[in-house]
Amino acid sequence: SSDLMQSVAAQRPFFFDHIQEIIDNAFREFEGLTGRSYERVMTYRTEDADYLILGQGSIIPSAQVVADYLRNTRKIKVGVVDLVMFRPFPADLIGKILKGKKGVAILERLDQPLASDLPIAREVRATLAKCLENDGYKTGKPYPALESYSQKDMPVIYSGSFGMGSRDLQPEGIIGAVENMLPDGKHKKMFYLSIDFLRDAAFTPKQKAYQETIADAYPQIKDLAIRGSENPNLMPKGAITVRFHSVGGWGAITTGKNLAMTLFDLLDYHIKANPKYGSEKKGQPTTYYLAAAPEPIRVNCEYFFVDVVLSPDPNVFKHTNALAGLKEGGCFIIQSERSKPEEVWNDIPRQYQQLIIDNNIRIFYIDGFRIAREEATDPELQLRMQGIAFQGAFFAASPVMQQAGLTDASLLKAIEDQVKSKFGGKGQRVVDDNMRVVKRGFDEVHEIKNKVISTDSGEKTNRQTVLPLPTMLKHMPQSASRLSDIHRFWEQTGNFYQRGMGNDNITDPFIGLSVMPAASSLFRDMTGIRFEHPEWIPNNCTACGDCYTVCPDTAIPGLVSELSDVLNTIVTRVKKNHGEVNALPKAVRQMESKVRALFTSEKTDATVNDYIQEAIDQMLEENKDEQLAKEFKWFREELGDFRIALTRPYFELHEKDAPGSGGLFSITVNPTTCKGCMECVQVCNDDALRSVPQTEASVARLRKEWDLWTDLPNTPDQYKRIDDLEEKIGPL
Ligand code: SF4
Ligand code: SF4
Repeated sequence: SSDLMQSVAAQRPFFFDHIQEIIDNAFREFEGLTGRSYERVMTYRTEDADYLILGQGSIIPSAQVVADYLRNTRKIKVGVVDLVMFRPFPADLIGKILKGKKGVAILERLDQPLASDLPIAREVRATLAKCLENDGYKTGKPYPALESYSQKDMPVIYSGSFGMGSRDLQPEGIIGAVENMLPDGKHKKMFYLSIDFLRDAAFTPKQKAYQETIADAYPQIKDLAIRGSENPNLMPKGAITVRFHSVGGWGAITTGKNLAMTLFDLLDYHIKANPKYGSEKKGQPTTYYLAAAPEPIRVNCEYFFVDVVLSPDPNVFKHTNALAGLKEGGCFIIQSERSKPEEVWNDIPRQYQQLIIDNNIRIFYIDGFRIAREEATDPELQLRMQGIAFQGAFFAASPVMQQAGLTDASLLKAIEDQVKSKFGGKGQRVVDDNMRVVKRGFDEVHEIKNKVISTDSGEKTNRQTVLPLPTMLKHMPQSASRLSDIHRFWEQTGNFYQRGMGNDNITDPFIGLSVMPAASSLFRDMTGIRFEHPEWIPNNCTACGDCYTVCPDTAIPGLVSELSDVLNTIVTRVKKNHGEVNALPKAVRQMESKVRALFTSEKTDATVNDYIQEAIDQMLEENKDEQLAKEFKWFREELGDFRIALTRPYFELHEKDAPGSGGLFSITVNPTTCKGCMECVQVCNDDALRSVPQTEASVARLRKEWDLWTDLPNTPDQYKRIDDLEEKIGPL
């Protein structure tokens, strides 16, 4: 309405112009009540500084440590300006603090590419422009609350963007921002910290070629990001830094928190912990950082220099250099189900064995999963219990006990106190459960003493190698548009996440559009987050369909196939993997009737797979041909242990109507999507699904069977059992 103008204009003199005073009073009052003093702008070593870092929030303590470091090591006079209050913009204070400085780097945790400056830089520039306007007035300055600047008072303004999406900012980034301002610096007016538009060394040849295309089209792109010349360890003296390598969903955050609390209780140290979490990390590698120090820890970032690495993730070396940043003489504890130290050692890829030896790293192993399985009275608590076992292992292996002058008894007492205060309310049993696990972790962690580069340690993958394509992705066609192509997305983004390197994918035009091709869930692999998986016993199965109806992840599909389709699919796979075959296709056609004959032989306990194997034996008996024997060997390899059932609804009833028309029923577990919830096992009333512990061999088998399953044709129409099409009800 027409009086809106008055109501808005009235806010300036009657309200907004008073805020500054109100705030200053509030800060005084707060200080009186708490002893903590705040100003609208706070400064650190700015008075004699030549260069300033200006920012807000968690970057400030980090910038202060960097300022101290650069003053001590390079005699560069750096100060830090903490913009506590953004509105009303404290122009009066900013004008005073910045006056006469050589440069100010304004670091902001955002980007506004269409604005003339980032928000704080915009305000600072406007403030300093007003200070310049004040120049030359003896009285009646146009901006009386502000300083007067002559040209020589004007600092050079640099603007940096960092930390979006909680991206880590190392001291290196802040050092880069200072170096940029120095006389021999690059003097970039606008820059990004802690990202690479193009990487000096590409991770893969494909990425190298791709980077070259980007560099050709945008020759200046690399210069948008600046990097510091060093990344010093700025932890306080006497600090202990710990890194966890775990898997999303394994409770690493709880473990980290518990450990932090115990360290705090035991040592009375200052603690800082930085978890990386989020539901999108479920099943993916995760890290957790923790530091404890006798004085406050100012630096806010992931730790590149660590004393102890705990890896509840037994597969960590397959995707990450878990030794990165581990100090010389540091301590590494890994989950392993192996019982002998030499077996654990042999699991470690050779290049990491070398690193361990060269850096004098003490390496320990523990089977936290076994302890958790044996001790957790509630299976739901197993994952957390593994972490608690690691807590015990941490104290047994790390130098903390020595440092704090603790005996075994005093340590366990302190842990028990902490467990009691945390779980005491849940009853003594929970406390006892936890303490048993801690003690076992403490006792059952073993050191590997005999560290000799082994000849049989497999050259397992590391972060530089290319991950294999996810199984389901192999079946996806390439899309005509690069933007919506899931294969392109896998190469440029997906595989980085899979290796726990989500921060390292390059800054390219596709990522700039934030477009995610459909079906990226195919990248997800739940193998790492389950300990058991369902196993199907075909001869007990009645094909009731309850399991695949109940599975929340559609991870256990039922399928009906014609015998000929199963056999032909295997022949096709043999051809694909071994090139042309001569005798096999015809022999397999002939074999079909033998298999069918065996179906009616009603041998107890024999499975369809057994019948196929027996029919192959018969074929080979009748045809003593070397080539055929070789090709059938390949056939057997492809068939593997694939399980098939002769069930009443799909086989017997059809056979009764028309002999030879019975279908073969199979239940196959999708190893990438099954999360091991066992709902399918619970719902199966026929003992046709059992929960079995997951092993490397069982995972390999599941993957192989799933791969075969994906090649089988869909259930033919004659076997579809739909009771109500409208309601979409029916077992298949
Ligand atoms: S496995 Fe069990 S639940 Fe699943 S179809 Fe067979 S009998 Fe039914
Ligand atoms: S264990 Fe759970 S996720 Fe896996 S197949 Fe069974 S119901 Fe599905």
